[in-house]
Amino acid sequence: MNHEQNPRITNISTLGEFGLIDHLTNDIETYNHSTQMGIGDDAAILQSGDEHLVVTKDLLVEGVHFDLVYTPLKHLGYKSVAVNLSDVYAMNGKPEQIFVGLAVSSKYSVEALDSLYEGIKAACKKYKVDLAGGDTTSSPAGMVISITAIGRAEKNRVVYRSGSKVHDLICVSGDLGAAYCGLLVLQREKAAFTGGSTVQPDLSAYAYVIERQLKPEPRRDIIEKLKALDIVPTSMIDISDGLASEVLHLCKNSGNGAIIFEEHLPIDERMAAVAHEFELDPTTCALSGGEDYELLFTVAQSDYDKIKTLPNVSIIGHITEAQNGTSIESASGQRVELTSLGWDGLKHKGNF
Ligand code: ADP
Ligand code: MG
Repeated sequence: MNHEQNPRITNISTLGEFGLIDHLTNDIETYNHSTQMGIGDDAAILQSGDEHLVVTKDLLVEGVHFDLVYTPLKHLGYKSVAVNLSDVYAMNGKPEQIFVGLAVSSKYSVEALDSLYEGIKAACKKYKVDLAGGDTTSSPAGMVISITAIGRAEKNRVVYRSGSKVHDLICVSGDLGAAYCGLLVLQREKAAFTGGSTVQPDLSAYAYVIERQLKPEPRRDIIEKLKALDIVPTSMIDISDGLASEVLHLCKNSGNGAIIFEEHLPIDERMAAVAHEFELDPTTCALSGGEDYELLFTVAQSDYDKIKTLPNVSIIGHITEAQNGTSIESASGQRVELTSLGWDGLKHKGNF
C-alpha cells in the first residue's frame, strides 16, 4: 500500500530533515545528570568532572552527501573528519578523539580505502586529533561514513546556540557561498564528462571555490583567537546549511530576532565571479549555499573593540527582539524576511 492510499502513513518529505529530527526526538527524556545538553545543538555537552565533554556525530552517504565522480577519496576522508571537528569548535570545544564507522561495498579496492584513510589521517594530524576506534562492515551498494568526534571544553566557556541577547553583534568567520559555487562547477564538469566531452577541463580559474567544496577547514584558528582575546561568544553555530538557515537556528534557540546587512556579508570575489557565471546573485549564494563550515557567533557589544581587531571575522548585523523577526537589509535599505525568500536549510539540502 503506498502513502497516498493510507492516510495514516506520512511521507518523510512532508517533515524535511529538521522536522523529522524534531518529530523523532521531541519526547526524549534524559536519565543522567551528566547529560548537560542532549539533542538540539551542534554537539552534546556531557559533564565529566570539572570539564565538559563535547560529542558529535555526522553521517555521510554516497550519492547523497558525496559523488565519487568528482570527489577524490583522500579529500572525502579529510572532509568527513573536518565537518565533525567543526561541530566541536562550534561549542567552543577542543576536539581530541574521533571514531570512524565505515560501510563499503565490494566495488572499493583496498587501495581506494587507503586513499580515504590518507585523508582521515591528514586531518587528524593537522588538528591533533586521535583516531581512537570505529566499526567496519560491508554495504550492499556504495559507501557510508559515520564519524563521531569527542572533545573537551572548560565548563564556563561552552557556547550554546541559545545564549544570544538583544543588541549582541552577529559575527561570521571567513567568506560565504564559495563551497556551493565549487559544487556547481564540479557538477557542471561531471555533466560535460558524462555527456561524452573528451576535452580535458581547465579548472584552474575555479581552484578557490573547488577547494572550499572539497577540502573545508574547521575554524580552530578562530576559536583560539577568541580565547586569546578572552572573548566568550554568547552563542555560536557552524555554517553547514547556509547562513540564513543558521541565523534562524540561533534566533529560534535564543528566542530573539536578528537583522543582518547585505553589504556586510563576507563575499570573496572569486565566489562572486562563479556565481555570476551561473547567473546567480552572490548574496543568495552567501545566504543559502551550504558547506562553508565557517562559524556564526554573537558577542556582547562590549566586546566590539576586541572583535574588530580579529582578522577573518565580519560583523554582519545584530540581535533584535523576537517580534522584529529575522531579516536582511539590502544596500538600498530594503528589508526582507529571511524565511519569506525560502532560504530554508532543509529545503535546499534536498535530503528527503
Ligand atoms: P548539525 O547540522 O550541526 O550536524 P543536525 O541538524 O544534524 O546538526 O542535528 C541537530 C540535533 O539533532 C543535534 O543535537 C543532533 O545530535 C540531533 N540528532 C540528529 N539526528 C538525530 C537522531 N536520528 N536521533 C537523535 N538525535 C538526532
Ligand atoms: Mg553544526
